[in-house]
Amino acid sequence: MDSRIGIIKNYASTIQSQLIELRRDFHAHPELSFHEAATSLKIQAVLRQLGISFTTGWCKHGIVGEIQGELSSNRLVALRADMDALPIHEKNECSYKSTHEGVMHACGHDVHMTCLLGSLMILNQFKSLWGGKVKFIFQPAEEKLPGGASILIEEGVLNQPMPDLIIGQHVQPGMEVGKIGIGPGAFMASCDEIYIKIIGKGGHAAQAHLCIDPIVIAAQLVLAFQSFMNREKPANQASVLSLGTIETNSEATNIIPDEVKLSGTFRALDENWRWLAHKRIKEIAVSICKAFNATCEIDIQIGYPCLINHPDLTESLIQLGEEYLGDMKVERLGARLTSEDFAYYSQVIPAVFYRLGVGQVPGVHRADFDIDEKALEHGAGTMAYFAMSLNTNGVL
Ligand SMILES: [Zn+2]
Ligand SMILES: [Zn+2]
Repeated sequence: MDSRIGIIKNYASTIQSQLIELRRDFHAHPELSFHEAATSLKIQAVLRQLGISFTTGWCKHGIVGEIQGELSSNRLVALRADMDALPIHEKNECSYKSTHEGVMHACGHDVHMTCLLGSLMILNQFKSLWGGKVKFIFQPAEEKLPGGASILIEEGVLNQPMPDLIIGQHVQPGMEVGKIGIGPGAFMASCDEIYIKIIGKGGHAAQAHLCIDPIVIAAQLVLAFQSFMNREKPANQASVLSLGTIETNSEATNIIPDEVKLSGTFRALDENWRWLAHKRIKEIAVSICKAFNATCEIDIQIGYPCLINHPDLTESLIQLGEEYLGDMKVERLGARLTSEDFAYYSQVIPAVFYRLGVGQVPGVHRADFDIDEKALEHGAGTMAYFAMSLNTNGVL
């Protein structure tokens, strides 16, 4: 067994109370995407205390820096945590409840920042136990398009030099504390928003033959989309097209409206299928409208891409996770159709995103979300061990 494991675990439990304090401070003072100014200052203060240098101003409030181990290695591993909160009114009545009305760390990004700071405390304390460099990325605006990750990449976060790999973690409600979950290949979905306007010709509902009824056309379109997904989607792939709204500008029972607007979300786990589906969604909408003498406007707003966990790197992390957390403590997880802007990093360099067990707690994006804080020392320690181990030359 790697002798560093005991050392990391001991230190992680020593700093646990400090991590709880940090997490509660982040939790009590959440900030929305692109507005993480005070959060950023807090992180900067901790880094200064640790004597770790960094640069700021990435996507406004992001922080990026490097620390170097003392052993010989030319490896560079990147660690990422997101910083933003959600526009949700917190319903918990805890001492660290959000003090910012209508804003809440309901997706656990307070936990991710705390765990990354904890990992840096460990890596900084035991530089003699590892080599190469660790690049840390505190990233703003995960929750809002176009996503802080895509902006950071444009700003050059993966350049000079390019990291060999990047890892990120996310809280997982319902998973036991002391466990992580991970899976190779497609792990999270692309997410695009579909907006369709069907333009017909309104009039008296009793004189439908003088109108072009966009409601009937919309009904056909909804079913055509489901037939398309059912018959054209590759059978071995998960993907979904769900319409969330259908609306008209009419409120009367006896009026055929001029227009119907539909909107929905399209999710996929494969980029080829994703772009083919966009083309087909447009073709189907245009041709069904044309068949019934209506016209249509269609706008697909491009969201986050598919998040692909590098297969070999994932296997390495499963093995390292079992070494650190113990047998049966790494769950193999399949893909899910939620999305994450960490996906952008996975398009550029080998990347793995894994889930951190935070106990039997309500799900993320809920007003009563919270975690079992015991998860913090596991989140910090596991990430530190990953970084130390992956920074050895020759390991993927
Ligand atoms: Zn979220
Ligand atoms: Zn999140």
